[in-house]
Amino acid sequence: MLASDPLDVPLTRLNARTAKALGKLGLTTSGDLLRHYPRRYAEPGTLTDMASLRVGEHVTVVAEVVRTSLRPTGQGRGLLQSTITDGRSRIELTFFASHVKKLEWRQGQLRPGRRGLFTGEVSVYRDTLQLMHPECRLFGGDDDAQDEDEALVEAGRPIPVYPAVAGFESWKIAQAVRTVLDPLREEEVPDPVPPHLRERDALPTLVEALRLVHVPHDEADWQRGRARLRYEEALVLQAELARRRARVAREEAVARPPLTGGLLDAFDARLPFTLTTGQRTVGDEVAGELAAPRPMQRLLQGEVGSGKTVVALRAMLQVVDAGGQAALLAPTEVLAAQHARTLRGLLGDLAEGGFLGGAALATRVALLTGSLPTAARRAAMLDAASGAAGIVVGTHALLSQDVQFADLGLVVVDEQHRFGVEQRDALRAKAGRTPHTLVMTATPIPRTVAMTVFGDLETSVLSEVPAGRQGITTHAVPADNPRWTDRTWQRVREEVDGGGRAYVVCPRIDGDAPAGDAADEDGTDLVLEADPTVGSPDPGARRPLRAVLDVAAELRAREDLAGVGIGVLHGRLSPEEKDRAFAAFASGEAPVLVSTTVVEVGVDVPDATVMVVLDADRFGISQLHQLRGRVGRGTRPGLCLLVSAAQPGTDAHARLETLAATTDGFELAALDLELRHEGDVLGAAQHGRGSSLRLLRVTRDADVIARARTDARALVEQDPDLGGWPALQGAIEASLAGEREEFLDRA
Ligand code: ADP
Ligand code: MG
Repeated sequence: MLASDPLDVPLTRLNARTAKALGKLGLTTSGDLLRHYPRRYAEPGTLTDMASLRVGEHVTVVAEVVRTSLRPTGQGRGLLQSTITDGRSRIELTFFASHVKKLEWRQGQLRPGRRGLFTGEVSVYRDTLQLMHPECRLFGGDDDAQDEDEALVEAGRPIPVYPAVAGFESWKIAQAVRTVLDPLREEEVPDPVPPHLRERDALPTLVEALRLVHVPHDEADWQRGRARLRYEEALVLQAELARRRARVAREEAVARPPLTGGLLDAFDARLPFTLTTGQRTVGDEVAGELAAPRPMQRLLQGEVGSGKTVVALRAMLQVVDAGGQAALLAPTEVLAAQHARTLRGLLGDLAEGGFLGGAALATRVALLTGSLPTAARRAAMLDAASGAAGIVVGTHALLSQDVQFADLGLVVVDEQHRFGVEQRDALRAKAGRTPHTLVMTATPIPRTVAMTVFGDLETSVLSEVPAGRQGITTHAVPADNPRWTDRTWQRVREEVDGGGRAYVVCPRIDGDAPAGDAADEDGTDLVLEADPTVGSPDPGARRPLRAVLDVAAELRAREDLAGVGIGVLHGRLSPEEKDRAFAAFASGEAPVLVSTTVVEVGVDVPDATVMVVLDADRFGISQLHQLRGRVGRGTRPGLCLLVSAAQPGTDAHARLETLAATTDGFELAALDLELRHEGDVLGAAQHGRGSSLRLLRVTRDADVIARARTDARALVEQDPDLGGWPALQGAIEASLAGEREEFLDRA
């Protein structure tokens, strides 16, 4: 029989009732229980001078027993009372029992003259302070504490407080933990952190760390234990990412070197603007990697409006020039359709391959989404499979099994956070040889998040926006002031009259529906996700959130907007309706577009100049930054009005003020992250991470993550599959198993 892992023992071996209660917390094995770390530590009851005791305090007092009496209270029940003193004041200890006999042992323990530690909550009964059912540790004698010193040490220990369930209190969990932890033997428990790394940083072993967090002697203990467990979490995650990166890097890709006189050259020659320095630098970086026979694995981060699309398109053209195809994966149908439109627009007759009037070396841009009519879908699939389309743009539909490519050389994933690693893999699997991968983020993300969520990718950053942009002015506008409201719509009117377009974003579709429409036809959340940065709205101002359909009706009735076309766009429209609404907006036929956050990511209408966000306090910082990035993209200055009923002095109000004051996306992203409940960042960004990251915080633990990343890369360099570190390997597998489970749950 195999030696079994002592952390893999089912809790049912403890006892059935305990196992059942712990099961409610999702804990089924000894390892689960030991990884159920205390949420916090209670101050050990402080040794207190009794005169200063206050009702409601949890205290430990050193005192001497003065007298003890036990008396029956009827029906066999009993009451034990004991008076203790610190030499000056006195308090009572009170114990009830269902049977008087049960108190006899206690009576013997609390003999007059004995001293000890008494811990409990101070209450008052008939003007006398008392401790009800205190914990008693008597010095010297029949207790487990051997002497005064030891008892004092025990009493000084931080008390671990566990996330508990009803009916199974924290201290019962502590007890169960001890049952599992106490008999553990160091040598039987595999430690995911290799010894040389432990030694370098003087980290405790896994078993030591578990003892330090569950049974600390003092704060330094649990701090030290937690630090080590936190590092372990970072190391496991980074080792997985490093291993995955190394694995892909070992694969062969088809080299796609640039071709002189090809599509890319033709495109560059007719580009209506000059590339920014950043676009050029990143472009060269990407071009070099595409030219090599190793798969590129790159993350392109960029400020809103920094021109990521052009960088991606140039990479795609290089691949097409080299005889391959590129797929562009977008998170929503709206975005996919827009990308196709944008790419065709940028390419002009270079995208009319096979058509009369197309340029000689032209290719084709195919659009493939789930809701396409059968004929169009079939045509797009044929173009992808035959290679007639050099560029295939699509949603999740691209991942479906019946979609084939002639020679997929590059996968570009736009606006990443809605695609997991698994989906990237699914698309990769469609290529004969591993394609190059370029992932683009919608907004800047803080470095630690990039390292954590995209740790397997190399990062490039576009931080500047093209010159000539007029910039965006942002104002926070109070919702309840009619004068301001009028002014808002007058501004919209002025912009429209000047040839501009205005977005009006609302948190919901109609009055009855719950906040946000459920999903678009891809099953992708398009709108207001429960955003953890969103504080509860001002309780005094509870009122229904503004809804697209209501607002559109309201605006159509306004005199100051008379004659202005007002369109609506939301996830419940059919794809054709969406397309139509969008086209009417872009063309100026309906220059005011009332919508949900469907316009949040990537939508690009250069004439758009105003972004009005209603109930702006309901959106997160990054989301608002992304939204306002939709305006001021052409040569006209942008205006963003954040309308909200949030009262000055509230967090929600402060967030809007911050947005009004800053346009630096990286700064805002870092702030956003700080305000979020940390687990959510990863939970939202990457499947399943919430479950394997218990202590690690991307906001606070930047240095731990960076150190773990360097260490993990070094380990993988020497031992690509980590075969030499079975415990680390096991920990990676366990974390991946959780990730897959959640992925499957969602699928
Ligand atoms: P994002 O990085 O937010 O995805 P886009 O790629 O959508 O930004 O680009 C925003 C707008 O800027 C587009 O209209 C694009 O054509 C334009 N653009 C891109 N690069 C430049 C440049 N170097 N000079 C001027 N305009 C540019
Ligand atoms: Mg974009």
